[in-house]
Amino acid sequence: MKASLWIPGLLMLAGVLAAGLSFASDTAQRREMLLREIREDVRQTAAYLGRERLNPSVLAALESVPRHELVPDDQRRYAYENRPLPIGYGQTISQPYIVAIMTELIEPEAGDVVLEVGTGSGYQAAVLAEIVERVCSLEIIPQLAKRSRADLDRLGYSNVRSRMGDGYYGWPECGPFDGIVVTAGASHVPPLLIEQLKPGGKLIIPVGSRFMTQQLLLVEKGEAGELRTRQVLPVRFVPLTGGH
Ligand code: SAH
Repeated sequence: MKASLWIPGLLMLAGVLAAGLSFASDTAQRREMLLREIREDVRQTAAYLGRERLNPSVLAALESVPRHELVPDDQRRYAYENRPLPIGYGQTISQPYIVAIMTELIEPEAGDVVLEVGTGSGYQAAVLAEIVERVCSLEIIPQLAKRSRADLDRLGYSNVRSRMGDGYYGWPECGPFDGIVVTAGASHVPPLLIEQLKPGGKLIIPVGSRFMTQQLLLVEKGEAGELRTRQVLPVRFVPLTGGH
């Protein structure tokens, strides 16, 4: 091949590689900044959370999950901002700080099986899947269930089982669960979710009326099945829909 063809070709290749690298380092930098922000928010809200900092396993999970791969293309550039983003069908991917504290508060451990209600983008499921053995996640909107499944497969989250379904009734065949994370606002705690929680398990759920701020509730099931509930902090989630 003639040198005159080689050189522009090589330059173009170098350009593409450089752009790819700078995108990757940009992303890493933004994710780092987001993590710093989350750590600061946790410190600011320590009195509500009952802790000053996140568990290292939760931080590592937040560091690993590529949030930009789980949002629609037109939202990608905002993926590492600490706020919810639209994901279509009137739904949102939760704010990273909220995902962080919901994950933290159920105290997930390596061998755990966790249920998520409201797969949405798949982001919360992926964060949990970095820590626990298996995540079971239910999504009521068929298109979102399908898209999140494809995204989780593409990213290699083979320990997430997900399907379309009404999470109000839980997923008994996938449980019982060490932890349950409900990512849509309910008017009350669904009784079947309590039933599917193991003794010693923890459930986190936003509860309140549809048009007002909800309270994030942490429900702990004691070894004898007794329940302890505590209000964590006021939050705002899209509503839990479905037939109940
Ligand atoms: N965890 C998601 C947040 C999505 S917002 C994420 O990380 O992106 C809440 C989701 O709950 C929405 O996708 C909504 O469609 C879903 N949802 C609402 N009611 C539901 C129900 N009864 N069962 C299952 N999913 C439900």
